[in-house]
Amino acid sequence: MSELWPLPDDPLLPELLADVAGLNLPARYREIDRAPEFPRAELRALGARRWLGLTIPESLGGRGLTPSRAAILLYRLAYASGTTFAKLSLQPEFCSVLAEHGGSELVDAWFRPLVRGERLVGNHVTEPEAGSDAAALGLIAEPVSGGYRLSGAKSEAAFAADAEAAIVYGRRPGTDRTTGVSAFLVPQDLPEVKRAIEPPDLGERWQRRGRVDYGGVEIPGANRIGAEGRGFDYLRAELDRERGLLAAIYLGVARASWEETVRDVGERRAFGRRLSDQQGVALPLVRDGTELESAWRFTQEALVRLERDATAGAGTAAAKALATRVSLTALDHAIQFHGGAGYSSRQPHEQRWRDVRSGGIAHGPTEVLESVVARRLWPRPPRD
Ligand SMILES: Cc1cc2nc3c(=O)[nH]c(=O)nc-3n(C[C@H](O)[C@H](O)[C@H](O)COP(=O)(O)OP(=O)(O)OC[C@H]3O[C@@H](n4cnc5c(N)ncnc54)[C@H](O)[C@@H]3O)c2cc1C
Repeated sequence: MSELWPLPDDPLLPELLADVAGLNLPARYREIDRAPEFPRAELRALGARRWLGLTIPESLGGRGLTPSRAAILLYRLAYASGTTFAKLSLQPEFCSVLAEHGGSELVDAWFRPLVRGERLVGNHVTEPEAGSDAAALGLIAEPVSGGYRLSGAKSEAAFAADAEAAIVYGRRPGTDRTTGVSAFLVPQDLPEVKRAIEPPDLGERWQRRGRVDYGGVEIPGANRIGAEGRGFDYLRAELDRERGLLAAIYLGVARASWEETVRDVGERRAFGRRLSDQQGVALPLVRDGTELESAWRFTQEALVRLERDATAGAGTAAAKALATRVSLTALDHAIQFHGGAGYSSRQPHEQRWRDVRSGGIAHGPTEVLESVVARRLWPRPPRD
């Protein structure tokens, strides 16, 4: 397997894999699924070992890697220990709007502690009536003396009850679509912030998602992140990067199941011969291996292009859509070809499938990402 398609390598890998083993991450991945909790201890440990914020500049406590290099480490982290800790590692990247556009006091109070794993910061974009079409968001951010008053509801949010603060997107009254949307840092322990966790998800249960109501909470003007009305521009740039990095995570975890399945069908016997002697088993696995590797190379290429050209986000959108699809197919085959054991929680494939399944919805549903690509193929004519 490895001779055919070698695993991606990086000089930091020995250090990373030593920490994966030292922190017992493969076992914790399974435990956290069975008893969902936010992995606070691992957040701290990963922060202390500088695995949070791989692409974040060293001056802010990160590793300062290019996204294409960070993708290699995330792929290997997911391959070794599932999606959870790779996604945790990305949390500062998910909050990079704060690092790039927040004032220095805000960055010192919230972003640096996030990179150290001491504080958790979430992102609140989605609303009950605005998800895929995020530009339709309606949370009102009304200027008041000394700051802003935020009123409205956010939904589907990861870490609804666990985050100490969230980057909240809201609009100035009277504005429409992407104009007038700003980002704000809102501590979550204020009395006008009401948080509720929803019943457990299909996968990624450790995220403990839920709804957050902002009932006229007032925050100082210094908590606005960047310029007024630019929130959407900031968010778009962040999404372009993170979609490529998420693709690497899905492909890494699917590769683990694919390898385990290739090994297993080469040993297990049915109808008097090895399962791998049945073309109905062997050929789908050949296709999965080919597609996982192709999607990985496509993802790397998309990230390298984005490093050179900030307008190349359609490539990482396509990479996430592709990676989600081929990873889910490979994971489904892993369940199938492990038979009854594959369908059970004794093996990790079903958990990995459930966890990757969110990839078709979160950070932009697949159809919306494909629409981003479609707009590049068929640009909209300018309006009269
Ligand atoms: C695990 C997970 C974690 C999440 N974490 C966060 C978070 O931390 N913060 C946050 O703000 N949000 C978060 N979300 C929410 C997520 O971003 C939204 O669920 C997503 O944007 C879809 O919005 P929606 O649920 O309102 O679906 P809708 O907008 O109602 O869309 C439903 C479905 O319709 C289809 N669809 C929508 N638009 C189109 C279109 N133009 N063309 C074709 N098909 C379309 C898609 O299949 C889509 O899934 C998370 C979601 C998940 C699953």
